[in-house]
Amino acid sequence: MVPCHAMNRIGIGYDLHRLVADRPLILGGVHIDHAKGLLGHSDADVVLHALTDALLGALGQGDIGDLFPDTDAQWKDADSRVFIEEALRRVAQAGGTIVNADVIIHAQEPKLGPHKATICARLAELLTIDASRVNVKATTNEGLDAIGRGEAIACWAAVALCDCR
Ligand code: MG
Repeated sequence: MVPCHAMNRIGIGYDLHRLVADRPLILGGVHIDHAKGLLGHSDADVVLHALTDALLGALGQGDIGDLFPDTDAQWKDADSRVFIEEALRRVAQAGGTIVNADVIIHAQEPKLGPHKATICARLAELLTIDASRVNVKATTNEGLDAIGRGEAIACWAAVALCDCR
């Protein structure tokens, strides 16, 4: 039986934002040169939002909307780094350590293959873990649905924590 003072926990997160003209495209804290960007109350970084939810999920502490409601003006155009930092503060408070993080970005455009390594390095920096513990995958939606039509970008994230109290 796993002792309750050293729990391993997993969490998943998902997010989607609309892709529109005249917005910067920021994925995983990385500015990506593209004619469109993601629409949202904050900087709409779907990768950091999904990762924040995965961390909160692993902790059993609700979701990003509970902590940072989009009705609150202080999060208007916020750098999503603040959401990750709050989640990390909570991981530390629980005594936890991130084992690894895995993300899948769904985007028809732009092509993300050339950006995966940069996003991976940035996520490792934000999560303060070695890049070998972070994996970034990218896929199109084969031209199907809103993502496939280039109207949105979505992200799934999973994290594992160890040694949580
Ligand atoms: Mg979001």
